[in-house]
Amino acid sequence: MIEYKKNIFFDKVKLNFFLEKIDLPLYIYNYKKIIFNFFFIKKLKFFFFYSVKSNDNIFLLKLINNFFFKFDIVSIEELKKIILISKKKPFIVFSGSGKNLSEILISLNLKIFSINIESIQEILKLYYLKKKYKKNINIMIRINPNIDAKTHKKITTGTNLNKFGINLFHLKNLFYLNKILKFNILGYDFHIGSQLTKINPLKKLLKLINILYINKKYKYLDIGGGLGVNYYFNKNIINFYKYYNQIYLLIKKYNLKTKIIIEIGRYIFCNSCVIISKSNYIKFYKKIFFCINKLGMNDVLRPSLYNSFHKIESLNLGKNTSFFFGPICESSDKFLSKKIKVKNNSLLIFYSMGSYCKTMSNNYNSKKKIFEVIICNNKIKIIFKKEKFKNLINNYE
Ligand SMILES: *Cc1c(COP(=O)(O)O)cnc(C)c1O
Repeated sequence: MIEYKKNIFFDKVKLNFFLEKIDLPLYIYNYKKIIFNFFFIKKLKFFFFYSVKSNDNIFLLKLINNFFFKFDIVSIEELKKIILISKKKPFIVFSGSGKNLSEILISLNLKIFSINIESIQEILKLYYLKKKYKKNINIMIRINPNIDAKTHKKITTGTNLNKFGINLFHLKNLFYLNKILKFNILGYDFHIGSQLTKINPLKKLLKLINILYINKKYKYLDIGGGLGVNYYFNKNIINFYKYYNQIYLLIKKYNLKTKIIIEIGRYIFCNSCVIISKSNYIKFYKKIFFCINKLGMNDVLRPSLYNSFHKIESLNLGKNTSFFFGPICESSDKFLSKKIKVKNNSLLIFYSMGSYCKTMSNNYNSKKKIFEVIICNNKIKIIFKKEKFKNLINNYE
């Protein structure tokens, strides 16, 4: 993505001068790549709802709004962000296992496309508000199918021991209950995990869906998100077309005759964004070199939370190492990497930073959230200004 000889180019824009002026680390998005991805998704025969939690930068949400106009949210603040940027009322699906009364009430008042119900307790809460305020709303039923997505235990959501969705055993009770509650059910909803790189769990899921749909048909079927991203930049990972084509073929095979909703998050921006950072120090113990750089677990939590891998590239070659750390006072503030060459003040490029990085970042160690820029039509545009010290103290009384 970046060519470095004497000059640093990113999508044909020379960055040398800019990188000297601006505070590192910073996110750099590639507009062209993002739009390229959008056209892929446009070609699908499915309804695409963008999962806001993967990246909620306002500039990027505006792009999604212009192209797709449909969002999957998990909190009312995400909904408020979308209302802020959208002139007309977009299509909203509200997911999440812990919606509270005020959040449900706002969705009722706005009459969003669907509230995806995750428990019997939740549908009772919704009913209470529906009666009290005489409002109605469509729902989908999120089912926990007890299918292991076989990804990482911290991002699997669809087994009996996960908190998400209504257990298959409880489904019958829900239908009895709904004879009294009288909610209009748009369809079933599933989301069995994230970073799926194999089609098998989805095959199992569609087999189950087929059985459910033989008993009861709905207008929609929401199969969630989860499409995996190629963090290692190798070839043997399922690609976008294969994945969705197989799903399409299964839906045809089972003759489901329903409109399919997908809620992709991660895939949309992940590989269209890198972070540029700098090594601070190279220290060593025997023959092991430790590279301590400016990017920490406060900015990118994924490696310490999930042991996730991000490709790192160094632009100034020195000692050989795979030990990369941030400045945060925690031993788990480290990045997994292959061995690369690095020296003091090397520029470092961290790949695949567009999803679940900025949205999970925080102010631990009283660190400020960092810049985000996008390269668009040969220009560098700032889309998030680095926080100022006053952002860190404003809310104290
Ligand atoms: C997080 C989430 C998604 C998006 O998952 P990705 O792995 O980012 O594609 C979709 N649906 C629900 C309900 C989610 O919680």
